[in-house]
Amino acid sequence: MKRSNLIAGTGRSVGLLMARMAVRRALRECPELLYRTAYILGAELPNDVDTTLFERAFELEFQSHAPDGPGRTTAPEFHYFIEDGGRERYRRNKPFEEFSLGKSITENQRLIAIGTPKHPLSEAFRTIAEAIVVVRPEQRHLQAAIKIARDFHLSDEIASELITSNISNLSIAFRGNRPLDAALRIINALGKAEQTAQPIVDVEGNAPSLDDIAGYGEAKSWGLELAQDLRDWKNGALQWSDVDRGVLLLGAPGTGKTVFARSLAKSCDAHFVECSLTKNQALGHLGDMLKGLSKAFNEARKNSPSVLFIDEFDGIGNRATLSRHAPEYATQVITGLLELMDGTEKRNGVVVVAACNRIETVDAAFLRPGRLERIIEIPLPDLQARKAIFKQHLQTDPPETILDEVGLLTEGCSGADLERLARDCRRSARRSGGTSVGRHVLNVLSDQFLKVPSSQLRRNAVHEAGHAVAAYAIRGIVATELVIREYFRTTNVAESRDGGYTVFSHDHSSFQVRSDYEDRIAVFLAGHAAEAILFDHPSDGSGLVAGSDLERATMIAARLIASSGIYGDLVFRADLTMAQLKRMVRDDEQFAKSCDLVLKAQMRRVRGLLASNMKQLEDVANALVKKGRLSREEISPLVQSNTNTI
Ligand code: ADP
Repeated sequence: MKRSNLIAGTGRSVGLLMARMAVRRALRECPELLYRTAYILGAELPNDVDTTLFERAFELEFQSHAPDGPGRTTAPEFHYFIEDGGRERYRRNKPFEEFSLGKSITENQRLIAIGTPKHPLSEAFRTIAEAIVVVRPEQRHLQAAIKIARDFHLSDEIASELITSNISNLSIAFRGNRPLDAALRIINALGKAEQTAQPIVDVEGNAPSLDDIAGYGEAKSWGLELAQDLRDWKNGALQWSDVDRGVLLLGAPGTGKTVFARSLAKSCDAHFVECSLTKNQALGHLGDMLKGLSKAFNEARKNSPSVLFIDEFDGIGNRATLSRHAPEYATQVITGLLELMDGTEKRNGVVVVAACNRIETVDAAFLRPGRLERIIEIPLPDLQARKAIFKQHLQTDPPETILDEVGLLTEGCSGADLERLARDCRRSARRSGGTSVGRHVLNVLSDQFLKVPSSQLRRNAVHEAGHAVAAYAIRGIVATELVIREYFRTTNVAESRDGGYTVFSHDHSSFQVRSDYEDRIAVFLAGHAAEAILFDHPSDGSGLVAGSDLERATMIAARLIASSGIYGDLVFRADLTMAQLKRMVRDDEQFAKSCDLVLKAQMRRVRGLLASNMKQLEDVANALVKKGRLSREEISPLVQSNTNTI
């Protein structure tokens, strides 16, 4: 092995040198891949080590052999398998984002997937991979790495003991000129610290009880009541028909629905059965899918009381929205599952907890009494919950001021995001030899959160103030909350575009007249208008993406014109589904032009209105820049003073 070649890019990091040697050894099994410009490779690591070292090692190895030589620009794309076993989730350096494996492969042919014992390569990946290699750093690699980095020989005896240590701990311990005995002490201490660092749900699936988890709002109080009901049912004090038999948890990925279901089972002293629809679907046949579901119900019945968790419930489909071409089996699966829930065989003692992201995707029949009779939304954690979740995953008590900082910066983060942040902080502390974790939290925060520049902050405040002032001037409505984002996560591109938001309480009127539509359009366009007035040019912040002000205003105009019967034509052109309206705007030029006319008229109107309420606009914007968030009580006097209305 050429030493010079090995050292290039690795510096004197013992861990990276070892990873490099182990990767080089593993790639000998498939030498041809090194010279290819496209490959799909699976790498199995022996334990849940710091995978970034191995990523770097693979990169360096492919770079040094590449046909286009060192400096090759396209590095491999790395994928990880997260969550347990069969759940087909992937991530590329961004945890908890789902990627389609198929898409990654066609778009990026240089793909290396990393599997670890906890998160092994999926069967699907194994089938398509061109090679699967095992990367296992050996004792001789450790000895060679120490020789290169520190120029001394590590005895066989010590090396055989150390080779079982976490590779990144070896890097930390042998950094700089630390003498051997100090390095050994550090490895020992880091190893112990890791043993005590238990994830919230461990490998065996043990979870904390409901009392010990934070951030679940209504779900938690429902769960605690259910626990009491199940106890009463067990003691014969309550009939099964009086117990809630099912719940649908609604929440974004990573809000902790799985953790909640496990904690619920623990608090209810109930058996936990998990059933993933996509896992059963992967088996391919209708029979297999129903068999998987019915097996789960049987296990739950046999061990009752039990909590039967059905994850990714969206996967089952909704008969109201299934396309005409959906396979017949989709309907059969729905009916099959309904039968299992109603139970010709009784399901006494089995509480079904289903989880999904959006309610529209769930067939209404599942929501009837006796089935998933309750729908509970799992919100993103609030300030207090964010602090508590972060602390729980940090596994140590940082100073309160630091926790406050974390709580403030992480607005909009899910439990999973907070877990990742805490993990990054622990890793950073570990790498520097386990010194004060507080300082590392601050370092990681400053790496991962960027302050919005003050000029941008002011523009965002003016934009939100535009919505608030217009809503009051047009409809006499005071916004409930105005927020501008002072930081955004460097790992989240969407956030860097999302400068803030304005909240209005919902208007529940069932029928609307033409001016209702127009007023709503004007309020949506008011952010853009306010920017145009105070900065000469508006930014593209109102448009570009789905969910933006422009998209929402356009959709209202499209609804008004397409089929409402209150704007010119009486003709009914399309249903009110967003998808259909969007297609019409995109494909029917004449229709798009009509929408644009409505939008332009409202833009003129709202610009005029804001121009005659400049003081209010400035006052709200200034207060928002100062405080970052304004409540209804704070907004009210600012928009109400001498407002010109129409
Ligand atoms: P979901 O099922 O909603 O996608 P999970 O339950 O799988 O989310 O949560 C993903 C990870 O995020 C979990 O491993 C857990 O550690 C962390 N997490 C999410 N919510 C919380 C919470 N409220 N408290 C503690 N950890 C949480």
